[in-house]
Amino acid sequence: MAAFSLETRPGNGRTHVVISGLVDEQVDLTPIIGLDGTVELNLKGIRRLNSAGVRVWVDALRTLSKRARVEVIEASPAVVDQLNMISGFLGGGTLRSFYGPMICERCDKESNHLFDAGEVRDLDRLPPVTCATCSQPLELDDDEDRYIHFLREPTRVG
Ligand SMILES: [Zn+2]
Repeated sequence: MAAFSLETRPGNGRTHVVISGLVDEQVDLTPIIGLDGTVELNLKGIRRLNSAGVRVWVDALRTLSKRARVEVIEASPAVVDQLNMISGFLGGGTLRSFYGPMICERCDKESNHLFDAGEVRDLDRLPPVTCATCSQPLELDDDEDRYIHFLREPTRVG
């Protein structure tokens, strides 16, 4: 299990934040709470959150999104699971994109594919994705209705 890490990189009126690893009760999210302007959170590397970590996370996101415009990109499957369980997981943040765990039955290969949240919401399903190796359609390695349930909920998507 990769350790927790948080890196912030200020840009042009926009702070890029990359958060990775395990989110538990010991994580320190104070470096992001004081940010303002537009804050882009890349959550590609979050592998797991435990229930105490979720509480720390939700408090931090709620506080952060009071003063900053929060955009979440590349939400990992672990983050999508939380989005499906907890309304308000992103505070007032907006989800831009997320990963789906895909499987090619012909190649017996698993890969994560990045989906545009607005596109999936508009289609009300995942757009077709083909295998880079054999060009066959990939299947989501999960129940699709369960996996994209959060897009039909009040979580802001755009
Ligand atoms: Zn294939």
